[in-house]
Amino acid sequence: MGLSTPIYFDYNATTPVDPRVLEAMLPYFTEHFGNPSSQGHQWGWSASRAVEKARSQIAELLSTKSNEWTFTSGATESNNWIIYKMAEYFLKQGPTHFITSQIEHPSVAKAFDLVEKMGVQVSRVPCTRDGLVELEAFKQAITPHTRFASIIWVQNEIGTIQPIKELSAECKERGILFHSDATQAVGKINIDLTKAHVDFLSLSAHKIYGPKGVGALFHRHTLGRELLAPLLVGGNQERGLRSTTSNVPGVVGLGKACEILNQEMNSEIERMLELRNLLFKGLQAELPQLQCNGCLVRRSPNNLSLTFKGYPVERLLPLLPQLAISQGSACHSDQGASSPILKAIGLTPKESQETFRFSLGRGTTESQVSAATDILINTLKL
Ligand code: PMP
Repeated sequence: MGLSTPIYFDYNATTPVDPRVLEAMLPYFTEHFGNPSSQGHQWGWSASRAVEKARSQIAELLSTKSNEWTFTSGATESNNWIIYKMAEYFLKQGPTHFITSQIEHPSVAKAFDLVEKMGVQVSRVPCTRDGLVELEAFKQAITPHTRFASIIWVQNEIGTIQPIKELSAECKERGILFHSDATQAVGKINIDLTKAHVDFLSLSAHKIYGPKGVGALFHRHTLGRELLAPLLVGGNQERGLRSTTSNVPGVVGLGKACEILNQEMNSEIERMLELRNLLFKGLQAELPQLQCNGCLVRRSPNNLSLTFKGYPVERLLPLLPQLAISQGSACHSDQGASSPILKAIGLTPKESQETFRFSLGRGTTESQVSAATDILINTLKL
């Protein structure tokens, strides 16, 4: 077959750095190593120019303004930051109610658990069997004390796309601030923040062919500056919003990754969709017991969450050394815990143990998909 194995189908866990991104980053480790806060010499100036260029690249991809972005260490920090600081801000003013969903990434879900202990009342809206948070269910959770809501844009395990435009419009009308964890949405669906009334948004570079350890938080410029206190305090970098010396090469990498998406995303989305459908149809034709979790229509083009009945992870994974796939999500698989997301869409613990996530990406080819289809069919038909 001539294909090198294992074949990587875990792009939702992380992506390789695109060579063009690496090339853009390298000079900022060596000749342009300056600290962007050093405004008295050329090293500082070139570093700060590079950081501001990256800010404009990310702003352009999502149709926003540059000054609406603060760089962070990743989506976990962005999510934690906004949820803690919203809780602190609103708790000072009186009874505080927040809304989230039952299908959030742990970096959102666990932050909500913590602010609940601080005194915030939290509603966790359920989703449908198809993995979608419905506007009606969301509306029912709203109380006179609801101040803030956070709903994931694309679910990391099952790939479902939430109705963020509708949910955020409802929040805007009612004066509720709205955040979305868009870590798995950026690069996989078109996001235009002039059209969705999102006040805050989190993303991460390593899911879009950028480096690990870099992310960003969007905060809409029309919101008062007093609303968003920094999580990290110290040297007042990032206009006082995040102290610590900027990770210049990382930020440059995130900017370049966004620039590439801006140019190539639409054709890549179509390519992903074709390959994803090829994989699914190929398996479905031969494996009638196969179950796909989550709505197939409102779904990220690169994701399949598949339940192979009768094949729990400890039985199937050793049979598939040629495939790099993930049980549920990378965030849960290392803990051996069964996925709260699969539970939220109604899977039994047994079904959850029989569920695997296939996530495709820039390096996925048609021959890899055909090879994976054959490997799975041959293994499961034994
Ligand atoms: N949110 C989602 C939806 C994710 O998939 C991930 C990564 N698994 C994160 C947040 C955390 O991102 P990071 O690794 O940048 O902290």
